[in-house]
Amino acid sequence: MGKIKVYGTEVMPGEKKIVTVPVTKDLGVDIRIKAHVLAGKYEGPTLLILSMLHGEEWFSALIIRELVKRLKLDELKGNIIAIPVANTSAFNSGTRCVMDNSDEPDANRAFGGKFMWLTNQITRTIEEEFFSVSDFLIDYHIGSWGSTMADIGYGADYKDPKMSEISKGMALAYQFPMIHAMTLFEGVHSKKDRTSMGCAAVKHNIPGIVPEIGGLGFGEAIENQWIEDNMNGLFGNLKYLGMIDGEPDYCDEYLFIGDYWRTSPKNAGYVELKIGLDRQCEKIEKGEHLADVVDPETFEILEEIRSPGEGVLFYTCRNFMSRPGGWTFGIADIQNSKWVKKEDLNLNKFSNFQP
Ligand SMILES: [Zn+2]
Repeated sequence: MGKIKVYGTEVMPGEKKIVTVPVTKDLGVDIRIKAHVLAGKYEGPTLLILSMLHGEEWFSALIIRELVKRLKLDELKGNIIAIPVANTSAFNSGTRCVMDNSDEPDANRAFGGKFMWLTNQITRTIEEEFFSVSDFLIDYHIGSWGSTMADIGYGADYKDPKMSEISKGMALAYQFPMIHAMTLFEGVHSKKDRTSMGCAAVKHNIPGIVPEIGGLGFGEAIENQWIEDNMNGLFGNLKYLGMIDGEPDYCDEYLFIGDYWRTSPKNAGYVELKIGLDRQCEKIEKGEHLADVVDPETFEILEEIRSPGEGVLFYTCRNFMSRPGGWTFGIADIQNSKWVKKEDLNLNKFSNFQP
């Protein structure tokens, strides 16, 4: 039977412990990471679940709370390390980035950093203490208050094609119909090994996914449903990775999002929606009027946000006060995104793991 050791603390099969790993001292406060270490009763791989590398994305901390509550360790093969708040410094200021005037303030662009900036030290701790003992990664990035996303990102351009297959398999096993092939290493959004996913892949040979289902500020009913969607996704992944018994309940069809438009306001203002939340995951016409941006002082309409093309809406927002470029709409370009039926996908369970 396997046990796991994190930062010198041994967790025996069937046990769970919260392990606190110190990072550094900031002015007046200690920066540290608290990890829930859940040791399965049986041997198997270790899944690392990260949340809140960005300090204002706290929906995913609620997902981890629910997982810790529901997971039965006497059914688990392997271990889970789940970190609700990876970046306590940005969490404290309620912002995406760390407010330390550094030139690397974004923790998910600071992996592998050479310096002593807070983000470099936080990500170095994640690498040294958590990546070093993990086999798979789930890193949550569910947007800031007022914005909701609906896709699972997977790495499509790992050097080793097997890693891309595992990452895609994890995305499919999240049991959510919108998946997004991320180019971690090539292309315009590439950050190479500076992101969690890129660093985990390049330096630690760990494949992973970035689930983005949920959001804050939309009301209890839908937010509870999003928690359930994420529970389905997590337990689907545990089945796919052979960490609990059973098969994932795959969707009948998946939209593979290729290129997409990030349709954001040029001007700051009150974003007043022209479409409802029911349009998420639905078709959007070219030129469709999505929202107005209203000047909060003069009340004039500063601009209309319209869809640049025909596509499928995968992130949207509620009425909120946006800064220029804020998280409003993401539309998958239908020209290079495609719906694929379950029968046409290779849904082999991941079974090559040798403990
Ligand atoms: Zn994020």
